[in-house]
Amino acid sequence: MLVLRTIAETRTTCARIRLAGKTLGLVPTMGALHEGHLSLVRAAQASCDAVAVSIFVNPTQFGPKEDFASYPRTLEQDCRILEAAGVDLVFAPSVQGMYPSGASAFVEVAGLSDRLDGASRPGHFRGVATVVAKLLNIFAPERAFFGQKDAAQVAVLRKMVHDLRFAVQVEVCPIVREPDGLAMSSRNRNLSDIQRRQALILSRALLTVQRKAQGGEHESSKLLAEALGVLAGEPGAELDYCRIVDPDTLEDIPSVDRGALVAVAARVGTTRLIDNLLL
Ligand code: AMP
Repeated sequence: MLVLRTIAETRTTCARIRLAGKTLGLVPTMGALHEGHLSLVRAAQASCDAVAVSIFVNPTQFGPKEDFASYPRTLEQDCRILEAAGVDLVFAPSVQGMYPSGASAFVEVAGLSDRLDGASRPGHFRGVATVVAKLLNIFAPERAFFGQKDAAQVAVLRKMVHDLRFAVQVEVCPIVREPDGLAMSSRNRNLSDIQRRQALILSRALLTVQRKAQGGEHESSKLLAEALGVLAGEPGAELDYCRIVDPDTLEDIPSVDRGALVAVAARVGTTRLIDNLLL
């Protein structure tokens, strides 16, 4: 497995892969890898000849009071995991490499970027869209793999790829959960045992909505009331948002009749967690 630090080497390697007639799949990550990331790697391996994983804790998607400095960084261990998984190439650039001094070009997906996490984390999706645009530009992969775990990110990136005419197929993989239902996340390692139990309230609230919807309740306001009732039962989780939205536009919808995204975000201690469910 190649571990590359510079954009120039990565471009050359990707050009070689293309020259050999191979298709390339890209899995962008911020590292501190878990089974959720590995599910993307496996999906990429199933449909591409060569698989690249980027590991970059992207400063522009963190707000000034967020956890950029304390975000878990475990590059050596991540590389061991990816090598064992049969990944071909890891790209772990420096901040300076991705954002040369004075860099002032950013990608903004107007509208979508201000919804869900974008509303609570101003500038977050501008940072995400910008770094993913850079990665797509560097790798020019046939396919790029993202997790449904970050549902709003999926909507923003799909729109960016469509609007900017990137020649990449966006692939979205299902949420991987712990046996008890907690959505896997690099941030879960920051939770104490008690917080880990409190964090289960997110998936429980979503399950309640799913049961009610399957039972015939399609009105968003009633489903949301159920979810909020469950969430209120756990004072250890400080709710950021719980909404029922159109999965593509991220706008609130009055009914789940024609498909819906139920998305929740809450803070447990200082750790911000998100989860969602597609109906
Ligand atoms: P991150 O390293 O958190 O930026 O995540 C990198 C990619 O892995 C993103 O596309 C995430 O949506 C995806 N991902 C993270 N957690 C999970 C999970 N539990 N299940 C599926 N995909 C995930």
